[in-house]
Amino acid sequence: MARVEFDNITKVFEDTSGPIVAVEELSLDIPDGEFVVFVGPSGCGKSTTLRMLAGLENITDGEIRLNGEPVNDVSPRDRDIAMVFQSYALYPHKTVRGNMGYGLSLSTDLNKEEVDRRVVEAAEMMGIEDLLDKKPGSLSGGQQQRVATGRAIVREPAVFLFDEPLSNLDAQLRKHMRTELSRIHSELGITTIYVTHDQEEAMTMADRIVILNDGQLQQVGSPKEVYYRPANTFVADFIGSPSMNFFDVDLEVASDGTGTLVGNGFRYSVSDSLVDLVGGEGEYVLSVRPENLNVDPSASGEKSFEATVDVVEVIGSDNFIYLDVAGKECRLRAPSETEPEEGDVITVTFEEDDLHLFDRNTEEALIHGHERAESSPKIIESEA
Ligand code: ATP
Repeated sequence: MARVEFDNITKVFEDTSGPIVAVEELSLDIPDGEFVVFVGPSGCGKSTTLRMLAGLENITDGEIRLNGEPVNDVSPRDRDIAMVFQSYALYPHKTVRGNMGYGLSLSTDLNKEEVDRRVVEAAEMMGIEDLLDKKPGSLSGGQQQRVATGRAIVREPAVFLFDEPLSNLDAQLRKHMRTELSRIHSELGITTIYVTHDQEEAMTMADRIVILNDGQLQQVGSPKEVYYRPANTFVADFIGSPSMNFFDVDLEVASDGTGTLVGNGFRYSVSDSLVDLVGGEGEYVLSVRPENLNVDPSASGEKSFEATVDVVEVIGSDNFIYLDVAGKECRLRAPSETEPEEGDVITVTFEEDDLHLFDRNTEEALIHGHERAESSPKIIESEA
């Protein structure tokens, strides 16, 4: 088992079109046994970071340490890291047993019986003991994925790396497999880094989520932290489904000190404590999650806005209602009994506790509404 440290890691690829900065000054300390998920859009540097840790890619600058020891110059096979890829990369001519035991018999001096014992143990853990004598070609995608994971487990590595391992599976199997992988992590307690572009996968599996964009770290935190305290508009937009609503607003403060957030199509009066926290008039980005917007015809005019219903998506437990607010799309997640007609004009409100304010220029978080009552009246700082 291992602690993993990325210390100011930069990776630049030299391409024919010029240098490409894939990862920029990434620092991250992952304690022994943690399950960390790297998430971010395509091309943000997730795989490159994983490949540098595995030793499959050189590091341009910075240091990676395993249990405090620098590994920049350690060969991949001496890092005690097992990696599972999206493609499974199984040998087609070997049986499941052969695939799972092959790496172990090459890299250790364990005898055949010991290798076989570990293979059977891992196969039981993955629920594939019946498949041990089959070849990969006769297995489904889900079964091949289990074999690839089982092969990593057999090695009893210090660190597991998963690079989008569930991408080739259908939605139902993905959900099932992510529960399985979480269970295996709890059983083995091996430090795990898991890469995905699927924020739902990240939210359900991670101890901590690492959000990357354009090679830069945006935020590190527990699923709840990144959901309730997004460090910037990128994180706010990326985490949560449907994604957060954003409105450009001005905070206007009247002579009696009362504050109102004024946006295109609405005015929202706010408490004195929020005005104090923000520090006065200015230009902000206001955001609210779709599940925190409510349809309420009786809401006060100063705490609500009007919106025209564009589309109602019925998903069973809830309805996703797509709205037009003065020409801007806005998403609302409502209980299934709230089912307005397309074209209806509805009154929408939200609690001040549920709003987030971001700096319009830097896009960094300034206020999370639910924290305004906290004793320390200061503008929160980004964790990025
Ligand atoms: P995806 O989700 O699509 O796999 P990712 O977040 O894993 O994306 P990376 O594969 O790490 O992203 O790529 C990060 C950046 O580095 C991208 O701009 C990519 O084009 C570039 N890149 C990756 N590998 C190479 C390479 N071998 N040569 C040149 N550029 C590369």
